[in-house]
Formats: sequence, structure tokens, C-alpha cells
Amino acid sequence: MQIAIVGAGIAGLTAARQLQSQGHHVTIYEKSSGVSGRMSTRQTEVGGFDHGAQYFTAISDRFKKEIGDWRKVGWVVPWESRLVTLEYGASSPAGRSGKRYVPVPGMSSLGKQLAHGLDIRTEQQIIALEPFENQWLLSVKSDMVPIAVSAGPFDAIILAIPPEQATPLLQGHAAFSKQIGNVHLEPCWTLMLAFQTPLNLPYDGAWVAHSRLGWIARDTSKPDHRAGERWVCHATQAWSVEHLEDDPERVKEKLSKAFHEATGSPIQPIHAVAHRWRFAQASTPLPDVYLWDAKKRIGVCGDWFSVGLEGAGRVENAFLSALELAKVI
Ligand SMILES: Cc1cc2nc3c(=O)[nH]c(=O)nc-3n(C[C@H](O)[C@H](O)[C@H](O)COP(=O)(O)OP(=O)(O)OC[C@H]3O[C@@H](n4cnc5c(N)ncnc54)[C@H](O)[C@@H]3O)c2cc1C
Repeated sequence: MQIAIVGAGIAGLTAARQLQSQGHHVTIYEKSSGVSGRMSTRQTEVGGFDHGAQYFTAISDRFKKEIGDWRKVGWVVPWESRLVTLEYGASSPAGRSGKRYVPVPGMSSLGKQLAHGLDIRTEQQIIALEPFENQWLLSVKSDMVPIAVSAGPFDAIILAIPPEQATPLLQGHAAFSKQIGNVHLEPCWTLMLAFQTPLNLPYDGAWVAHSRLGWIARDTSKPDHRAGERWVCHATQAWSVEHLEDDPERVKEKLSKAFHEATGSPIQPIHAVAHRWRFAQASTPLPDVYLWDAKKRIGVCGDWFSVGLEGAGRVENAFLSALELAKVI
């Protein structure tokens, strides 16, 4: 079959590899200039920041096996980090067990490895799906062409994108729209900080209590990251929702203040940038593995499906959801 996949995050890439290995002809459309989606590394003049997903864990045997394979080829390594809880400046052991893994040399490198050998059209946003006889046409928008163009026909389509981005493409599919309608990804404001000198804090990552920040991590404590003192800080979900439309400069000031309060460090950064993830992680997932309409041959997958696990919004959910959808196709 000729199959189109919308989205080149871990879900889209996983589905594409599985389908291609079964002999299908797969084309991925990605609106950004690179692959990996929310597993991203922001490159700056002071070094890279893993400013989306921080690390990943594995609950299921299937994902543990996949991580084992990625480790064998050197794409992923364990992050042996000192993790604590910070409460009013005092740190205590986090008490959250389990192995944490990171791609090397940065979060986005896993997607780049998975993308090898796949047909990926970057900077091409899908803005509509049109049924065409018993197949599908895609309406593609790209900065290089002033008008949307048609791609296809395809025998099947997979949407491997957040629910808010899938909904406009599913207007002709009432059943899916209804199911997806109640799922939302919450936003997350992220602050990236770089310092000239080490802060010498006795931890690599911390869950922060009673703060605008929920999580801070010394990005440069991750294996194979370039030297330096770079920190990634995620605001809490509640603060991010409340300040969603704030000016990034104002957000930067507020979150920088929270960082200094939480860590007790007075050292000023040489680089500070705020980034808004409008769709970061699902708080209430869809209690399913994927959606698939065998008659119309259209499917939806991603990290916002619970895939039989507790919670969602993780790399593992995205991987399992996509793999199972590809298998059923
Ligand atoms: C701040 C933050 C922190 C996180 N922390 C963790 C963590 O510590 N551990 C963990 O396991 N997970 C974490 N996550 C979640 C993790 O990043 C996601 O679960 C995972 O990356 C989702 O992959 P995906 O392929 O489902 O979606 P995405 O990565 O969102 O991929 C979707 C892709 O589709 C593209 N796209 C969207 N619409 C279109 C369109 N119309 N046309 C073409 N392309 C389109 C997007 O550009 C994107 O590249 C975090 C996420 C964020 C944002």
C-alpha cells in the first residue's frame, strides 16, 4: 500500500519503520524543518538544550526490548542522575526509582537515527485530507510554494500528531472527532539557562515544590552532552496555563526568579531564553491504544493514548501506540 503519515515525531517514525519493513511504501509529512517533534534539542551558540522531553522510562516489556536494541547500537544510554525534590530551598532524595534513558548526543538524535532510510518531506504541513475514490489526497502547505498543493493518492493515512492538530484534519470523520474532542494536551513554558561557571549544586535534576517551576535539570549532566553549565526548567502545568499568552520576555524574568529561589544560587546566566510548548503533555489520555477505521483506512496514534499503561504523555505511549497501529494495518 501507499501510506502517508502526518508527523515525524517518535510515533510517526515508529509507524513508518514498521510499515516499511512490511513492504509498504511510506511517505512522512512534517511541518517543521527537522524530525523528532517534542523529543527535541534546541541548538544555540552556547550549546544544545533538550528543552522538550527530558528522558524516558519503560514500563512495558515491549518498550524495554526496544530500548535494549537502541542501547546496543549506541543511540540511547542510561542517565545516571542525582535527582531530588526541592522544597523551599531544601533538597531531599526524590525517591522515584526506575531507570531513565536519554538519546546521545541529544534528545533529537534518536529521531534522526530512526529517520534513516525513510521518505520524509519536511517543512510540509498537511492542512486537509480529501477522500478521492477509494483513496486519499493530502492538501500540503509549504513556505516554498504560495498555494497548497495536492499529494497522493494514498491507500491509507496515519495522523501521528497531537489531538488539537488532528481535529481540523478529521472534520469529515465524525466518530473520530467525537472521541478526540475530550482529549487535550496541556501547555508548558520552558526556560533555558546557561552559566559561565558551574553552579555546583548537589543534584542534576529536581522536582520543585511550591514554585512556578515543576522541574529543573542540569542538561549538561546527561552523557555525551557538550561541556558547560546549562539548565532546562519547566514551569508547572497550572502556571503555564495561566500565563499561556504572556510575553516570553516577561515569562523569562519570572521563571529566572523562580530558578534562583528554588536553587538558592545567585549566579546570573549568560544566556536565558523562554520557549512555549502550546501542546506539551496530555493530562487525561484517551483510554485506547490507537484509532483505526479499517473501511476508510485512516488511523490516529500518539502519546495521548493510554496504551494500557497508567497515565500518558510519554515517549513510551507514543512508541507503543504507533507500533500497534502499524501492526493492525
Ligand atoms: C516540555 C515537555 C516535557 C516532556 N517530558 C517528557 C519526559 O520527561 N519523558 C517522556 O517520556 N516524555 C516527555 N514529554 C512527552 C514526549 O515528548 C512525547 O510523549 C513524545 O515526544 C510524543 O511523540 P509524538 O510522535 O506522539 O508527537 P510529537 O513529538 O508532537 O510529533 C508530532 C509531529 O507532527 C508534526 N505535525 C503536527 N501537525 C502537523 C501537520 N498538520 N502537518 C505536518 N506535520 C505536523 C509536529 O511538528 C511534530 O513534529 C515531554 C514533552 C514536553 C513538551
